Amino acid sequence: MKIYADNQMLAAGLIGGTLSRQTGNMRETALQTPIYQELDIPPEKILHFHQTHSDKIIFISSPDEARTFAQKPLQEADAWVFTNCPGWGAAVLTADCVPLFLWDNTGTVFALAHCGWRGVAKKLPYKTALALKQSGIKNPLFAFLGPHIQKCCFEVQPDTACQFSAQSVFHRDGKIFVDLNAEIRLQLEQAGLAPENIHAPNRCTCCDKENFFSWRRDHIRQNLLSFIYKPL
Ligand SMILES: [Zn+2]
Repeated sequence: MKIYADNQMLAAGLIGGTLSRQTGNMRETALQTPIYQELDIPPEKILHFHQTHSDKIIFISSPDEARTFAQKPLQEADAWVFTNCPGWGAAVLTADCVPLFLWDNTGTVFALAHCGWRGVAKKLPYKTALALKQSGIKNPLFAFLGPHIQKCCFEVQPDTACQFSAQSVFHRDGKIFVDLNAEIRLQLEQAGLAPENIHAPNRCTCCDKENFFSWRRDHIRQNLLSFIYKPL
């Protein structure tokens, strides 16, 4: 199993990352269970939601709250913010969108967001990072951007480009491209993260067919799984 993860997230005592496509199309939820089991994560302790490219955040502030949430029908949202929830975690599905991981260096608070360009334009990265700040934690916060469509492939039309900061938009061969890494970095810095704590490797889901699904490339509904979990 190949997992794209961040060493500092693991050092904070969290388990998580984005799985490569070799583990299969994670829209088939039955495929997720053996993966969690292999990692010693109880599958029923991973929360799910219905993603809608919104800026809605679900806050889970205690194991009791997590338990209650797990029994409800799927809610609509695009980001998770966990505080003081050992033994719980959450997942998102992507194929070109950005799986955004946030955490503090003790793993007391953590977040996972599904950031498509619409979510980024609605400032979901900023809002999620701010929610972690407002949890009252004083520790340094870190961020990791999992594999997603990079500026090499993310061509957009002018009506999309105009929803981003000028410095995240550029022109090449008469076409317009958006750099989601740059845009998210900007938002996270606005929320108070130190630039050196934002880790955004240039792994492009659209270029790397061997390892990733890509909606832009294939137009097939296949998803990569990203998850984050704090062991007990
Ligand atoms: Zn690319």
